[in-house]
Amino acid sequence: MKLLQPCIDIQHQKRVDTLPSTCAACATECVTRFFSTKIPYFREVIVMATSCDACGYRNSELKPGGEIPAKGKKTTLIVRNVKDLSRDVIKSDSAAVSVPELELELSSGTLGGIVTTVEGLIVKICEALERVHGFQLGDSTYEWKKKKWDGFTERLAKLLNLEEPWTLILDDALAASFIAPATDSLEDDKQLTIEEYERSWEQNEELGLNDMDTSSADMAYNTTSTS
Ligand SMILES: [Zn+2]
Repeated sequence: MKLLQPCIDIQHQKRVDTLPSTCAACATECVTRFFSTKIPYFREVIVMATSCDACGYRNSELKPGGEIPAKGKKTTLIVRNVKDLSRDVIKSDSAAVSVPELELELSSGTLGGIVTTVEGLIVKICEALERVHGFQLGDSTYEWKKKKWDGFTERLAKLLNLEEPWTLILDDALAASFIAPATDSLEDDKQLTIEEYERSWEQNEELGLNDMDTSSADMAYNTTSTS
């Protein structure tokens, strides 16, 4: 199943809007197009696609459309082959990403929402980590950090070379992330598991959802109005 295909073929999507924007690469004025599209086994999403005629820069970002799901969703993929690496992935802003084999954990809110592939996601995370680590000469901890980082990139290369199976976990409290099944039916895909879970009060608090729940306010209102 290829989910990014419909984004290119405009006949399959509902055009929502266009907005003038600025190219993130060369700062030339360009246009961002908004589309809403329904992804099978997933939900309606808004795709924001920006392409720059001047430098060829392309970027697509994605926001979940429709209502906020009642439960969070944890998606686990066992990566075994090249096909798994090229599975389409939607990582929303609210998703935490982890790869236990790499001891890699990325908290929600990092990297924003991205539409990519399994391989693309891992590469993007590592590029971001490399920027953060920013090795500088003269740093006394440089050698130690460098060694640790080299070990990490070595293990990463092994995973991307598929020398052994590894696990990609997207834990999304807003259930707005997605890994494409390799089969037409989700049930047939033995490498992909999706678990729904109840969000904790703390998670709802963090997401600002507790404030949106008006039941306690309603109850208070009813109490005062009947007394
Ligand atoms: Zn540009």
